[in-house]
Amino acid sequence: MRIVIKIGTSTLTYAGGFVNIRRIEALCKAVSDIKNAGHEVILVSSGAIGMGVGKLHLSKKPSDIAGKQACAAVGQCELMYTYDKLFGEYNHTVAQILLTAPDLSCEDRLAKFSNTMSWLLGYGVLPIINENDTVSTEEIEFGDNDTLAARVAVSAKADLLVLLSDIDGLYTADPHTSRDAALITEVRELDDEIMALGGSAGSALGTGGMVTKLRAARIATEAGCDMIITNGESPENLYAVLDGVAVGTRFYAKRN
Ligand code: GLU
Repeated sequence: MRIVIKIGTSTLTYAGGFVNIRRIEALCKAVSDIKNAGHEVILVSSGAIGMGVGKLHLSKKPSDIAGKQACAAVGQCELMYTYDKLFGEYNHTVAQILLTAPDLSCEDRLAKFSNTMSWLLGYGVLPIINENDTVSTEEIEFGDNDTLAARVAVSAKADLLVLLSDIDGLYTADPHTSRDAALITEVRELDDEIMALGGSAGSALGTGGMVTKLRAARIATEAGCDMIITNGESPENLYAVLDGVAVGTRFYAKRN
């Protein structure tokens, strides 16, 4: 199985931007084990801006584009250094791929992306993708890695997209404010009612929220790829996904 796993900033870092070592270690271990079991994995990892904020000892994420891009440039090094070190402990080699939106919509660039991915996966390398934040501008940016992950899953013809979030999945209402909120375990039709559950919540360092996850679900499922939203706090959720145990919310691909 070829599986794209997206990890959000709030899963990787504490609120101040410092690396959540316990979490990231558990995740790297789970992903390494999944690779050892014979699956092809592509990681889409956020965290560059957040780790830049931590590394630069800023009190919060800058609000201007240049500030965010500068934080991403600093934090991306820290992010890849951490992954290289931790995956290296399990004998896995990582590769950094930074993309902007046109890279996956322009035919020529897409062909180059696909060739490079095939080569890396063929050699057992773990590609780790993030947006090329330094050169992304408002007009061309993915803006959030949920959309990027969905576009990567489609372009790489993945069988499954897993979004690791700081929430268990899609709820009938905001679980932070509503006691009656119930987890929706499966979605077979992304109708207006489901799309309306998106809301706008996101973390202080990250960019996405449920709304970008539902947009990602639309991109993935329309292209024939199942998508799961589950909690990144427990890497055991990744084992469960691969063992066919229901966790989080599964969005079923449209089969034509
Ligand atoms: N590319 C951004 C980063 O690495 C993340 C965007 C997002 O939060 O989805 O910090």
